[in-house]
Amino acid sequence: MSGQQQRVAVVTGGAAGIGWSIARRLQADGMHVIAADLVEGETPGSGVEWRALDVTDRDAVAALFDAIVSDRGRLDVLVNNAGIQRHGPLVDLTAEEWGKVVDVNLNGVFHCLQAAGRHMLAAGAGAIVNITSIAGERGSPGRAPYSTTKAGVIGLTRAAGVEWAARGVRVNAVGPGYIETGVYHEGVAAGRLDPAAILDRIPADRLGRPEEIAQMVSFLVSDQAAYVNGQVLFVDGGFLA
Ligand code: NAD
Repeated sequence: MSGQQQRVAVVTGGAAGIGWSIARRLQADGMHVIAADLVEGETPGSGVEWRALDVTDRDAVAALFDAIVSDRGRLDVLVNNAGIQRHGPLVDLTAEEWGKVVDVNLNGVFHCLQAAGRHMLAAGAGAIVNITSIAGERGSPGRAPYSTTKAGVIGLTRAAGVEWAARGVRVNAVGPGYIETGVYHEGVAAGRLDPAAILDRIPADRLGRPEEIAQMVSFLVSDQAAYVNGQVLFVDGGFLA
C-alpha cells in the first residue's frame, strides 16, 4: 500500500522501549509509522520513519503534525508514549525536577493531542492512545511527579474522549504495569526496584512484555474498538484488579 491509502500513525518516544514495540506493531498492521523522538534509536533501516521531536516544544509539535499531514495527506493514529521518570523523596524534589516531568509527561501529551486532534477533527476521523501507568492509579514512594502526571493523563484522556467522541475522534489510554524494559532493569540495578517484592504483587506472577502493550494499542486504534471512547485499559497482569 502506498500514498494516501496507507494509514499514518505517529508514536511519540517511538524509537526505543515500549514505543518501539508499538511502532513495529502498527507497522505490521499496515500503517506508515513515524517515530517522533529525541533520538533515532532503533529506527534506522527499519522502515519506521524517524522525525526529531521534543514533545515539550509546542511550536515544533504543531509544525511536525502540519508537515506530516502536508506530506502524507492524512493522519490516522497518535500514540502519546514519550515519558520520563525522576526518582527521589518528595520533600527533596526541586521545582525544576517537578517541572521537567510535568513538561514531558503531561504538557507534551497535551501539545501532541491538540495538534493531532485538530487535523483529525477536521477529517472527522482518528484514534489517539495515551500511555499512562499503574502509577497513575496507585502511589509509589519516590515517584510523586510521575504518579501525578500519569493521573493527569488519565483525566485528559477522559476529557478529550468525551469531547471528541461525536466528532469521529476516539481518545483512550493504556496503562502498563511492570514491563520488562531497559527502564525496569535500570531500576533493579540502582536498587530502586525489588524484583521479588514486585512479583509478589502481580497476580499473573510475571512481568509484562512490551509487545503486550503494543497489542492493546493496536486493538484500540483499530475499527474493532470503534465504540470505545475515553477509557483507560490497564495491561498489568492483574496488579490493579
Ligand atoms: P524509555 O525511556 O525506554 O523510552 C522513552 C522514549 O521516549 C525514548 O526513546 C526517549 O528518547 C523518548 N523521549 C523522552 N523524552 C522525550 C521528549 N521530550 N520528546 C520526545 N521523545 C522523548 O521508556 P519506556 O519504558 O519505553 O516507557 C514508555 C512509556 O511507557 C512512558 O510513557 C512510560 O511512562 C510508560 N510506562 C512504562 C512502564 C515500564 O515498565 N517501562 C510502565 C508503565 C508505563
